[in-house]
Amino acid sequence: PIPVITIDGPTASGKGTVAHRVALQLGFHFLDSGSLYRLTALSALRHQASLNDEHALAKLAEKLPCKFVGDQVWLANENVTSAIRAEEVGNTASKIAVLPTVRRALVGLQLGFRAAPGLVADGRDMGTVIFPQATVKVFLTASVEARAYRRHKQLIDKGFPATMEDLLKDLRERDARDSGRAIAPLKPADGAYILDTSDMTADQAVEQVLRWYAA
Ligand code: C5P
Repeated sequence: PIPVITIDGPTASGKGTVAHRVALQLGFHFLDSGSLYRLTALSALRHQASLNDEHALAKLAEKLPCKFVGDQVWLANENVTSAIRAEEVGNTASKIAVLPTVRRALVGLQLGFRAAPGLVADGRDMGTVIFPQATVKVFLTASVEARAYRRHKQLIDKGFPATMEDLLKDLRERDARDSGRAIAPLKPADGAYILDTSDMTADQAVEQVLRWYAA
């Protein structure tokens, strides 16, 4: 069977960076599942779809005209690599991610990323829902302060305005939404390794995941 490594965790825990580097090291494919929720959110914003219209949102998710080319993400004819990283898009993504039909509409797309020689999948429910039979499951976390600090640096580097105060508030709200929702709540999968990266560099976290995979 094709190996799968799942890395789940809260917003800005560093899982994206870690998962991406692990994939590069192993020469595996990489699925940033959050980008699919962000693409659906951006699509909804562009189509001015109501966030209360679950049916319309699920239809957008089902027919997402997205393409992944290297590190670039396309939605129809538009390169949306940086647009989907905006805070507004992330917040909208976390609101529509509570809708069961939207989540169901994205399952097939996610399973399709599993291909030889292997896959590293990062998100909230990779180990619990999408790839429960994964070879290695990791729950990667960090304190809310460490995460706010990292997100602040990321946003400033990319030229988006951000304050620590707003980010702490946003992260806490998003954590509550992601953990408290009825469907696919954020939690460690059965058999997952827990990795707290508050005092770790990304490289140290990558090393640890590679050791677990090699074991
Ligand atoms: O990880 P990222 O911040 O890009 O994800 C955006 C939002 O998509 C998250 O806040 C979360 O609510 C949702 N998401 C999800 N399940 C996933 C990945 C992301 O519900 N597997």
